[in-house]
Amino acid sequence: MQTEILKPNKETYSFASKLINEGEVVAFPTETVYGLGADATNEEAVKKIFIAKGRPSDNPLIVHLSDKKDIVKYVFSINELEQQIIDKFMPGPISLVLRKNDKICPIVTAGGETVAIRIPENLVARDFIKACDKPICAPSANTSKRPSPTIAKHVYDDMNGKIPLIIDGGQTTVGIESTVVKVEDNEVYILRPGKISKEKLESELKCVVHEKFKPGKVVESPGTKYTHYKPRCDMILVKTDVINTIANLYNENTKKGKKVVIFCKQESLKYFDGMNAVSIGKDSNEASHNIFKYLRDYENNDLIIAEYFDNGTMVDGLYNRMSKSCSGNII
Ligand code: AMP
Ligand code: MG
Repeated sequence: MQTEILKPNKETYSFASKLINEGEVVAFPTETVYGLGADATNEEAVKKIFIAKGRPSDNPLIVHLSDKKDIVKYVFSINELEQQIIDKFMPGPISLVLRKNDKICPIVTAGGETVAIRIPENLVARDFIKACDKPICAPSANTSKRPSPTIAKHVYDDMNGKIPLIIDGGQTTVGIESTVVKVEDNEVYILRPGKISKEKLESELKCVVHEKFKPGKVVESPGTKYTHYKPRCDMILVKTDVINTIANLYNENTKKGKKVVIFCKQESLKYFDGMNAVSIGKDSNEASHNIFKYLRDYENNDLIIAEYFDNGTMVDGLYNRMSKSCSGNII
C-alpha cells in the first residue's frame, strides 16, 4: 500500500473522510501526539488499527469526537461531576472514561463496558473528525512499544506501506498523551497522567482527585501495563545527585567506547561542557513537548542518560513516560 502524506486542507479532509467511510485507517495530528484513526462503529476498520500497530487486543482505544454535544450519543449516562469535566476541560488534552452504549464496537474498548472519550483541541483533528462524521477511535500512531510520534515523519517511519494517509499538521504542541480520568463516587481518579495535572483538576473541580497511576497502585488504564515508548538504544533516568551521577555515567561509558548522549535541563547544560549533551527544555512542559522526538532522533547512540525534571506542571506526565522509555532503569 502507498502511504501519502498530505497537508490539511479541504481536499485532504474529503479524501480522509472517503477513506474512513470505506473502513480504512488514517493518521492525524492532535495537540498531544499523532493518532491512528478509524470509524469506531466499524469493527473491520478498527481491527486494522491493531494490525498496523501490532497492538495487543486487550488494550482499548480512545474515541475522539469533534463536538461535546456528540458525547451523549455514545455513552450510557453522564453525571454532574463528569459534565463539569466536559465543560471545563474539553476540548483539551484529557480523556474521560464513561460507561459506553452499543454504538461503539466492543473491539474498541477491548470488550470492556467503559469507553474513554476525548475532544481534541487541535483544529486539524477536529476538522478531520467533523469531515468523517463518525466517532474516530485512535491510539497513538506508532508501532506498539515505540515512542509516540509527534511529527508526521515519525508516523511515516512506523506506518509506511501499512496505512493509506497521514495528515501532516506539523509538530504536536503538548507532546505526551492525554490525561485519562474516571469518576467514581463523586471523586476523580487519574488513570494516566498528562498535561492536565492533579492540581489543575482539583482547583477547577473543587473535589478530591486520586492518582491511580503511581507505582504500587492497581493499574486500571490497561495500556499503561505494557512496555512503552522505548528507543532502540539503552536509557538511564537519573534522579539522585543528578549532575555528578550523569557526568560519572557518561565518562564510564564513553571510556568503554560507547556512544553516549545526555538529555538534560537547559540550566544543566553548563555542567556537561565537552560532553555530548542536549537540552530537552527548561522545565517538564518543554521537555514533554520534545521527549518523544528526541528519543527517536538520538536512538542511534548506544546510551541515553536523561535528567529527571522536577519543575513545571507536567512533572508526573513526563516522569511516567520517561520511566517507561528506560524500562524502569532509574538511579
Ligand atoms: P494510547 O493513547 O495509544 O496510549 O492508547 C489509549 C490508552 O487510553 C490505553 O492504552 C488505555 O491506557 C487508556 N484507555 C482507553 N480506554 C480506556 C478505558 N475504557 N478505561 C481505562 N483506560 C482506557
Ligand atoms: Mg500509545
